[in-house]
Amino acid sequence: MSMKTRTVKVGPVMMGGGWPVSIQTMWKSPLAAFSGPGDPSLLAAADEIRRLAALGCDVLRFAVPDETGADSLGALAAASPIPLVADIHFDWRLALRCMDYPIAKIRVNPGNIGARWKVAEVVAKAKDKGVSLRIGVNAGSLPEDLRGMEDRAAACVAAAEREVAAFEELGFQDVVVSMKMNEPGEVERANRLFAAKYDYPLHLGVTEAGPLIAGIARNTAALVPLLKDGIGATIRVSLSDSMESEVIAGREIVACAGIKKAGVRIVSCPRCGRDSFDTHAFLARWSGRLYALKDTLEVAIMGCVVNGPGEARHADIGITGAGDFVLIFIKGEIARRAPLEEADKAFAEELDRLLG
Ligand code: SF4
Repeated sequence: MSMKTRTVKVGPVMMGGGWPVSIQTMWKSPLAAFSGPGDPSLLAAADEIRRLAALGCDVLRFAVPDETGADSLGALAAASPIPLVADIHFDWRLALRCMDYPIAKIRVNPGNIGARWKVAEVVAKAKDKGVSLRIGVNAGSLPEDLRGMEDRAAACVAAAEREVAAFEELGFQDVVVSMKMNEPGEVERANRLFAAKYDYPLHLGVTEAGPLIAGIARNTAALVPLLKDGIGATIRVSLSDSMESEVIAGREIVACAGIKKAGVRIVSCPRCGRDSFDTHAFLARWSGRLYALKDTLEVAIMGCVVNGPGEARHADIGITGAGDFVLIFIKGEIARRAPLEEADKAFAEELDRLLG
């Protein structure tokens, strides 16, 4: 649960105000022009969004670099099962155009939008259309006069404060704020400073966090302490990797912070010289399917009988190597012994039986 901030509505998703922490990712490629609602690339994109939603993605953001992007995002928003957000830099007219469509939130980077009157036009239309806005401050694109500040966390907070004040002057408070840097410690400090002063919901993330492993480590270091203290209404784990990885990493970070979410928790062994069952290959085949389950379920995938039966017994369903066989456990009891080559089939049958 996030700290008691004001609540901001992003389509059907509530951010802040004690609502569950939502997980976001960002679309990784430009949207092409769609010819109409039946355009095959629109249908394929909508399918991909449904897959991300099944993995636990609550909100999805798209860069909107031009008018084609705005129109395509608008068409996709009408077909999406989750709220879509437009990410606008430089051209405020694109934000105005996006608000002609059912787009749930607009992220603006005021440092890149420029003149105050342009931001005011965006705010006026957002107010009129009931669309929320995110003030997305990024250490890489601070307003010019703040760029020289040595303390980047303080510079980001100063930039956010300036924008919040301007939005409040315009009578607009349906605002989520983010302050992103690529140093985890700076992200943590900036968000703590802001949360101590304001009650706007915070969108947390480490920007340009790096490749998969470094990116997950940096985001975990910054986000878990904040979330544990109730700071943060929504998160995006930015990775030089797939959207699926970002969503699953987001789920795991939220779980590490002790925030319970329905879904699957996988326990698996790293493998060593004792293994008789290739857990890595099994996970590569199964993790997408397991993470897409709606059920709250602990799954253990273990390589041998040293720790395998112990872990598998504690899970709702477990599979462990045992020589030329695998043992499958359901709720602590051995349910099945199957030859290695039939492991997938046996596991699938037992899982189906368990889930009824
Ligand atoms: S479960 Fe077995 S194979 Fe896996 S790491 Fe432990 S001892 Fe090694």
